[in-house]
Amino acid sequence: MFEMSVEYTDAPPTRAESSAGDKMPCPYCGNLLPKDAKSCDRCDWTRAATTETAEGKASDAVAVILSIIPGLGHIYKGHKLAGFLWMAGAVPVGIFVLLAAIASAGFGIGLFFFYLIAVMLHAYAVDDRVAPPREDEGEEY
Ligand SMILES: [Zn+2]
Repeated sequence: MFEMSVEYTDAPPTRAESSAGDKMPCPYCGNLLPKDAKSCDRCDWTRAATTETAEGKASDAVAVILSIIPGLGHIYKGHKLAGFLWMAGAVPVGIFVLLAAIASAGFGIGLFFFYLIAVMLHAYAVDDRVAPPREDEGEEY
């Protein structure tokens, strides 16, 4: 799976050459970048963030989107326990919101968005643990 082991770290991005075919828009901000650009100079996008998602780098944005279902974003980032806790927490919150919605003729539904926002913020902020944990050198004999 490591077929393209690109190791040239000091290859200068050839953004001066303006051949239109070699450009790609930044997936985040749309800034035109050289096709082999490793990162965008206008935003946070890096190629690693998008292409290595499957192997060790979770995307904050994806975690937020997945948090539409509370907990899914956390599970995506490798926080399975936290994900299940958020998911479990959504049940009493959902029941409470439902009761509040009945009592307030529907307006209580809005309360659930506060829970969703909290989940999304947390999913965004939490470190991703997708990467396998480093074996700490336990050299204490
Ligand atoms: Zn960009």
